[in-house]
Amino acid sequence: MDEAHVDGDLVNVLYTEAQIHDRLAELAAEIEQDYAGKEILLVGVLRGAVMVMADLARHFGRHVEMDWMAVSSYGSGTKSSGVVRILKDLDTDINGRHVLVVEDIIDTGLTLSWLVANLGSRGPASVEICTLLRKPEAQRMSVEVKYVGYDIPNEFVVGYGLDYNERYRNLRSVGTLAPHVYS
Ligand code: IMP
Repeated sequence: MDEAHVDGDLVNVLYTEAQIHDRLAELAAEIEQDYAGKEILLVGVLRGAVMVMADLARHFGRHVEMDWMAVSSYGSGTKSSGVVRILKDLDTDINGRHVLVVEDIIDTGLTLSWLVANLGSRGPASVEICTLLRKPEAQRMSVEVKYVGYDIPNEFVVGYGLDYNERYRNLRSVGTLAPHVYS
């Protein structure tokens, strides 16, 4: 796809590729420190977290394992309901493991609350969350998000893994869409 053309659909770039990489490097350093002497299992939530996972993982100067889950949240339009179905489960037994869930964005946090409870029931040593982006509503959720890249306003954003109707995931930056895209 023509990146220049797709970039033209962005009305406002919130974070450039370079800014995202710098922030992920900071988070990786923080995580490395917090998990000194402990094995980490990174659990990416498909499909949005693919880019965050790829770049975050490569900032670590130590071994990390990666696994993936795909969940679908029943809801209307862009809002999730908290009723979740597992489309793809982990291949790893997380009993006794230190699990770090890697997310692209947390909006209401309903999907994630469900996921953390589900993972928690499998006997892990710990479950923490790392997300690149967090919207205001998520701050009201009961689950603590330990690592947050950026707190953003309540706007619909795309790029760097985030989609609108499955498009724009491959943009290098994160931004809001021009109105003509929605019409
Ligand atoms: P939550 O359960 O409301 O936190 O829903 C989180 C999920 O909704 C994310 O994993 C995304 O798939 C989707 N989502 C929420 N906000 C946005 C956005 O601004 N752009 C793209 N997807 C979003």
